[in-house]
Amino acid sequence: MKCPVCGNIDSKVIDSRPTGDSEIRRRRECLRCGGRFTTYEVLESVPIVVVKKDGSRQIFDRAKILNGLNKACYKRPVTPEDMNDLINSIEAELKNTSHTEITSSELGLMVMDRLRDLDEVSYVRFVSVYREFSDIESFLRELETLKKR
Ligand SMILES: [Zn+2]
Repeated sequence: MKCPVCGNIDSKVIDSRPTGDSEIRRRRECLRCGGRFTTYEVLESVPIVVVKKDGSRQIFDRAKILNGLNKACYKRPVTPEDMNDLINSIEAELKNTSHTEITSSELGLMVMDRLRDLDEVSYVRFVSVYREFSDIESFLRELETLKKR
């Protein structure tokens, strides 16, 4: 979204409200000149791009997150609905903040945050796979942090 005043592409959303089934009206403020403008965005046409550690880009894929969750929640009291809700809430947050790009680490953190509230065992499993701990020490530190909560 280019600012019509100065052409800067960084703006923040002040207000957003749906104007139709797949359209949203956003009031934006330019981060450079402070100019305010309105955009109408079609929700589905703005896919979220996930930037991986090696710099490659992929379209946000629910199935991939679900796959990771399924592994972490194996034989745990987390239902498919819980997992769906979790992914929905991530999608909603990304759309709300009008993020079109997110790094895979940020995405992982968003999953962790939500999973921690759902089930701690699944959370620890997810963290251990996701963070690829370089050593047992850092994994134990994470567990300590968890215990203090
Ligand atoms: Zn501007």
